[in-house]
Amino acid sequence: MLAFDVIVVGAGHAGVEAALASARMGRRTMLMTLNLDTVAKASCNPAIGGIGKGHLVKEIDALGGEMAKATDATGIQFRLLNRSKGPAVRASRAQIDRWDYAAYMKLVCERTANLTLKQATVERLVVENGRVAGVVTQFGQAYSARAVIITTGTFLQGLIHMGHQRQPAGRAGDPPALKLSDQFRDLGLKVGRLKTGTCPRIDGKTIDFSRLERQDGDENPLPFSFATERITQTQRPCWITHTNARTHTVIRENLGASAMYGGQIQSRGPRYCPSIEDKVVRFAEKESHQIFLEPEGRETMEYYPNGLSTSLPLEVQIEFLHTIPGLEHVEIMRPGYAIEYDFVDPTELQPTLEVRALPGLYLAGQINGTTGYEEAAAQGIMAGINAALAIAGDEPLVLRRDEAYIGVLIDDLITKGTDEPYRMFTSRAEHRLILREDNADERLNHHGRRVGLLPEERWKLWETKADKIRQVFKDLESARIAPSDTVHKLFTAVGEPPLRETVNGKQFLKRPHVQFSHLEALGVLSEPVPAAVAEQVEIRIKYEGYLKRQEAEVERMARVELTRIPAEFDYRLPGLSNEVQEKLRRHQPQTLGHASRIPGITPAALSILSVFLDKERRARAAT
Ligand code: FAD
Repeated sequence: MLAFDVIVVGAGHAGVEAALASARMGRRTMLMTLNLDTVAKASCNPAIGGIGKGHLVKEIDALGGEMAKATDATGIQFRLLNRSKGPAVRASRAQIDRWDYAAYMKLVCERTANLTLKQATVERLVVENGRVAGVVTQFGQAYSARAVIITTGTFLQGLIHMGHQRQPAGRAGDPPALKLSDQFRDLGLKVGRLKTGTCPRIDGKTIDFSRLERQDGDENPLPFSFATERITQTQRPCWITHTNARTHTVIRENLGASAMYGGQIQSRGPRYCPSIEDKVVRFAEKESHQIFLEPEGRETMEYYPNGLSTSLPLEVQIEFLHTIPGLEHVEIMRPGYAIEYDFVDPTELQPTLEVRALPGLYLAGQINGTTGYEEAAAQGIMAGINAALAIAGDEPLVLRRDEAYIGVLIDDLITKGTDEPYRMFTSRAEHRLILREDNADERLNHHGRRVGLLPEERWKLWETKADKIRQVFKDLESARIAPSDTVHKLFTAVGEPPLRETVNGKQFLKRPHVQFSHLEALGVLSEPVPAAVAEQVEIRIKYEGYLKRQEAEVERMARVELTRIPAEFDYRLPGLSNEVQEKLRRHQPQTLGHASRIPGITPAALSILSVFLDKERRARAAT
């Protein structure tokens, strides 16, 4: 039997990051997947990033993952969203070439040392002595491993719906995985059912672009990876159109035929990515919905009409598309559909993504109830890192909520669970001014380095940037800017009240409408400052007060958050109801912070727990 340190099952967005992390950390790794032609395939829209999601991609990059680099290499349109808003909610988004992205990821995996790729369907886990010990494929071949990471996405008992038609599938064109979730049930894991849906893909030859609004990418596209210097490829435009009263009438009249509204699908779908049926029903007062036509790639005429996810029958999809300006004669290349699939209740997991009841088994991605490539990749890299660390007997890597959106994502999943596909938003984080896209390197590079995933040259890149930031701060503190005609003109132009006295560079930059480039224009600094450094300096100065307040809040919460609860803790404490005791026993929180986020754990219960743990700690210290 071939032996590996880590076997990753599924080469989607989670699986690829998990396998790369484990192999790059030196563990003998195998990546097994149903079809090697669909490695890192984008099952839904051809885009990476967006609000909250872009943050995850930058964090994956800062740990040493691949998603950001793949996006930079294969992106066909780049945009910074929320540019005019505060830095906490600015977010990167890119259209990717679906095929180039998948080919890039496959090649990176093939070229990575310690990583073996294999096309096979894993049908069963091998369990020995209460631990996972390997996998068995559809051919009956067994492979042993010290850790197994399952990243099977929407494939477990996948069932596609289009109108009243159903077909077992992992996604359109791929077979489902029928056996694994039965074994999960047999192992005592809680398995549930969720759904999601996708849009029809349409033929660009049949779109009347003259009736559409063009949307171009940013003039100076910003890369996702901290290691990419510049985006040099030419970009492709997207196009905007709108649904109208006629579209809504067609949809309303056919709701009974929709898989979601005809009663065929009972499971919950992503509230934040509603189908067009959902939108027409839930927002009945809206006369129109915006639709983005996104190219699926550079060398294709296929378009993804973002906003038109549907499970209506094919003939109704054609009928409603033909009511939309620019799409009057459009041909569907691939129909839209909904899919139902099994997922595992993520409260079964430890913060490392290891299954509590079965050591050595890790779960990552859509199998844990999330939706989205970025959410999947973020879990994948963490599962890969932690499996690799556990094998070496090293300390796990668990990111805190105040440290990373990845920390927020995993903590939310394992403490609260989810009954609908979980999507990341900036509003899920308590400390979002600290968790910005632009400072992911500062927050996480040191973790990537500690676990042996971030290459040394990336660490040096950060050190150089950090030195430069310190130097610019010093220069600004010593720079003196006196009132003058030039300053007066500048202030008038940007709408600032006049400068009355000499100030240093920091005080100057603190003015809300003054930008770093103004300092450079006045010749305050002796040498040019890289844009990424200027951005950090400007944010730190402008938001100094808010940042300090948030940091103080983080410190206060950390004291509670990090109070450890011993394993096998006896929750039979006076004042804790049976229901609360049962919840705590089931979730086995490792800290008071975790306990606080378990639904149904009241502040009163937390306070009892906290007082007891404090008493125990003091008693231990006294002996
Ligand atoms: P996937 O990317 O699905 O990859 C799973 C991998 O596991 C595949 O490579 C498969 O071949 C492999 N596999 C499965 N079973 C086995 C097995 N037994 N043995 C070996 N290999 C196996 N996301 C959004 O953000 N918004 C949306 O609106 C949205 N809509 C979607 C609509 C549809 C129809 C689908 C299918 C997905 C949609 N997604 C959407 C979800 C997005 O595609 C996933 O969140 C993301 O791909 C999950 O990544 P993953 O790595 O967990 O799984």
